Amino acid sequence: MSGPQAAGCLFCRIVRRETPAKILFEDERVLAFEDIRPQAPVHVLVIPKAHVASLNDASEGSQALLGELLFAARRAALEKGIGETGYRVVLNTGRDSGQAVSHIHFHVLGGRRLQWPPG
Ligand code: AMP
Ligand code: ZN
Repeated sequence: MSGPQAAGCLFCRIVRRETPAKILFEDERVLAFEDIRPQAPVHVLVIPKAHVASLNDASEGSQALLGELLFAARRAALEKGIGETGYRVVLNTGRDSGQAVSHIHFHVLGGRRLQWPPG
């Protein structure tokens, strides 16, 4: 499912400011905000303002947007001061990944030594 905004979607609600979030930055197409249950000292979520349910739902026309999201993930890491120490960008997709919110989002994690492989 994709479109400007989906009615009951939590992250679309954050885009519309109907659900509060600690917003780091935004531009026309992208929003970055703090994860409510951080799994590392830095844990930011980067989302498109338009609703895209998952990577599987992204269309050919979303390729530029996906690139913008990755650059926004880098910006979030730099603004949080972990550009040099390092960080991980995670995109969970579907059941086995644990994707819980059906609005595509990159996790930006860092500020501690991360384990590999992820669980
Ligand atoms: P995922 O498991 O990849 O779908 O990740 C969903 C993420 O959204 C989790 O890390 C949650 O902690 C986070 N999350 C859920 N609700 C909120 C919220 N209201 N504000 C910020 N982050 C949230
Ligand atoms: Zn949404």
